[in-house]
Amino acid sequence: MAAWCTFHGVRLGVDPGVVAGGTTCERVASILTQYLEAYDSSWDAVPALSQWTVRVVGERPTQGAAPGNFYAGQTFWESRIIDLYQGSLSVLPHEVHHVALGPPSSDHQGWCPFGDWEAREGILDEHGYLGCPALQR
Ligand SMILES: [Zn+2]
Repeated sequence: MAAWCTFHGVRLGVDPGVVAGGTTCERVASILTQYLEAYDSSWDAVPALSQWTVRVVGERPTQGAAPGNFYAGQTFWESRIIDLYQGSLSVLPHEVHHVALGPPSSDHQGWCPFGDWEAREGILDEHGYLGCPALQR
């Protein structure tokens, strides 16, 4: 990581590719704060998150991504690390939801109300990824 800072008590690292793009750890932290506050306002806060590290990477990681799937973030249970691609900071609530629900949540079963919430909030529309019907408008 090129720089470290925190948001809402969560350790945040940004890699050299992110800094090279002209942003700072603090700027990324302010964006992630908004996504976390949106999450906390509608779902139970996740106190355990203070024991996690979020890393923002400049290159989109491909390891673990299924063929044809857009890869934006990943939650690593053993090391309590969330990796986010810098162009996909909006997937933070998704990864936080995994932390809230634990490892069995990896299959996204029962996540359609969460997908509806993300879409309503204008955060992310991942109904297709979650295997849910599109939000009724
Ligand atoms: Zn997921």
